[in-house]
Amino acid sequence: SPSIVWFRDDLRLADNPALRAAVDRGEPVIGLYVLDEESPGIRPLGGAARWWLHGSLASLRDRLAERGGALVLRRGAAEPVVRETVRDASAGAVFWNRRYGGPEREIDTALKSSLRDDGVVARSFAGSLLFEPWTVKTGGGTHFSVYTPFWRAATHGPAPRAPLPEPREIDGASAALDSEDLDDWHLLPTRPDWAGGLRETWEPGEPAARRRLREFLSEDLDSYDRARDEPAAGATSLLSPRLRWGEVSPFTVWHETVQTEGGGKFLSELGWREFAWHTLFHFPELATTNLRPEFDAFPWPRLHPTQLEAWQKGRTGVALVDAGMRELWRTGYMHNRVRMVAASFLVKNLLVDWRRGEQWFWDTLVDADAANNPFNWQWVAGSGADAAPYFRIFNPELQAKKFDRDGRYVREWAPEHLSEHPPEPIIDLRETRNAALDAYEHVKRAA
Ligand code: FAD
Repeated sequence: SPSIVWFRDDLRLADNPALRAAVDRGEPVIGLYVLDEESPGIRPLGGAARWWLHGSLASLRDRLAERGGALVLRRGAAEPVVRETVRDASAGAVFWNRRYGGPEREIDTALKSSLRDDGVVARSFAGSLLFEPWTVKTGGGTHFSVYTPFWRAATHGPAPRAPLPEPREIDGASAALDSEDLDDWHLLPTRPDWAGGLRETWEPGEPAARRRLREFLSEDLDSYDRARDEPAAGATSLLSPRLRWGEVSPFTVWHETVQTEGGGKFLSELGWREFAWHTLFHFPELATTNLRPEFDAFPWPRLHPTQLEAWQKGRTGVALVDAGMRELWRTGYMHNRVRMVAASFLVKNLLVDWRRGEQWFWDTLVDADAANNPFNWQWVAGSGADAAPYFRIFNPELQAKKFDRDGRYVREWAPEHLSEHPPEPIIDLRETRNAALDAYEHVKRAA
């Protein structure tokens, strides 16, 4: 009886414990991916994420085929679709790597017990996080709400396990099943085709992810500590979409980094990813609800749609914000420092609720991640875990002077700001900053 490997956020062959378990079981292996836009609570993917998913699935399908395996694509609510695939294939086992979001966990738990009731082996594995959220605890046995002690506790336990090798051959021949056609899922934009900049910037799929990891470690890690905050320096790993889709596992990143000298700071950034997931696991409403409830008292003024649109399009008249928002629109990516500045400008100068910004990033980022995105928005807004104090409001002009000293980044993305007649900011930075601080008084009173 065949084994099914249910791929989700782990679109890779190397260091994939679920795939490894299926191969080791010794029966034919069927890869399955379910496009689930129906299960209750599942957040539909944004446009840029759908674009990435298409490329990553095409790559996974080809790689499985090269080794004798196959990838079956089906659409619908995951639980019934997986059960139906088990019946169609007369499968005896289903393996997957665990997910940590609230609705995803509910689906997986229900499925595991219903499969077992039917006598089907159902097993899950740790593949997407170095430290599963329930394994890192405070002395008092609770979860962490501050990053530094979280990361200290996580890294003082047993070291992350070594990555598993990639299976060379997969016996999938006798297990052909009906599959939908990837093109029928319409994950790629057509009219209009806005993905030109994404195609120029990225190559989804496991081989490109592994290449980028090697290249980063050999060429860029040396300058990471010094230059990682400069958006024009190209000093960061660009691994975020690859980690988001699991084209490379965090265990592989971890082990290859510790074998290279001087990776401590880089690993601690991976630690922020772990902490964001730790936070989401314990607070599944992270994308919709203030983690600190006193922020519910924040008096958001009525939305000014033209200002929101100016921000989205990169037409705020503030150089670093405009450059970042245009980089995002064109490439599906924005440098971390600029994400912080652009987010702060939306929340603390335009006084727009962070959830609107989070939604825009969700739709436009290729690395849009159910934990990292809302976690970081709440961090910037001040309402989140271990957040920046509200009253510390980024000054986007000083940030540009500090981190884009020679204007290279602004020249690339918003050059009119360096012309003789640069655009004027759509709002007064000082006035709006003061208005934000006044509004924050309501939060202080509610605390
Ligand atoms: P590197 O500096 O090379 O870092 C290595 C890896 O560490 C990243 O790939 C990422 O997985 C992780 N990491 C680094 N910084 C953070 C962080 N602050 N929080 C969590 N993980 C981190 N990151 C996402 O992956 N998805 C998102 O949807 C996302 N939304 C964000 C929204 C806002 C408002 C802000 C301020 C940050 C957001 N980030 C998000 C975090 C960060 O900006 C990106 O992870 C980083 O810019 C990716 O580039 P890199 O891979 O070159 O990073």
